[in-house]
Amino acid sequence: MNLDQKHSGKLFILSGPSGAGKGTICKRLLEETELELSISMTTRAPREGEIHGQHYYFVDEEEFVKRIEADGFLEHAQVYGRRYGTPKEPVIEKLEKGIDVILEIDIQGALKVKENYPDGVFVFILPPSMSELRKRLTGRGTETAEAIEMRLGETLKELSFIEKYDYCVVNGELEEAVARVKSIVVAEHSRVTMTAEELVRRYKEDE
Ligand code: 5GP
Repeated sequence: MNLDQKHSGKLFILSGPSGAGKGTICKRLLEETELELSISMTTRAPREGEIHGQHYYFVDEEEFVKRIEADGFLEHAQVYGRRYGTPKEPVIEKLEKGIDVILEIDIQGALKVKENYPDGVFVFILPPSMSELRKRLTGRGTETAEAIEMRLGETLKELSFIEKYDYCVVNGELEEAVARVKSIVVAEHSRVTMTAEELVRRYKEDE
């Protein structure tokens, strides 16, 4: 008997303060699960080793604005003075094909996705402490001292949005955090989506 439930893809939104480690968790999920990443578009310059079309689509302001005007984003936001957005079409196409999609985006973006796509699964990734967050941001070596202070200040404000999320995962120990997010994916696929009528019909047909 086939007890599979109706399955369109699920949209997982991994979000949280900068430096919480959502990027690292996301990378592991892409390696170890069937989840597919939505590649964001940004107006910031590529960092060393970043590849256009793999890490981001790096575009100029004009192209970004054109896409906004064409309603081509699921969400877009200004993060630390640069624009970032989730191209809508590839996400919708994947979900329709039954593929799970993961967005690794900032909190403003996640809140906008929630307005447009409340069926998404919203996961807040938390740093274990402020001091650890400072250490991580400094250790990256990609940010100026001023930018780090700005990000830390933002973090405290961002924490206040926790209640909008479905799950929160503290990223103290990476393995543990990855395992928890994987469990969330499994749990979400075990949600009841079929009706009682449908279930009873399937059991009866099986007799
Ligand atoms: P970074 O410049 O360090 O790659 O990313 C800065 C912040 O922008 C991170 O918090 C990252 O999650 C967020 N971000 C990346 N892509 C998107 C996106 O498409 N939309 C939004 N709203 N935020 C994004």
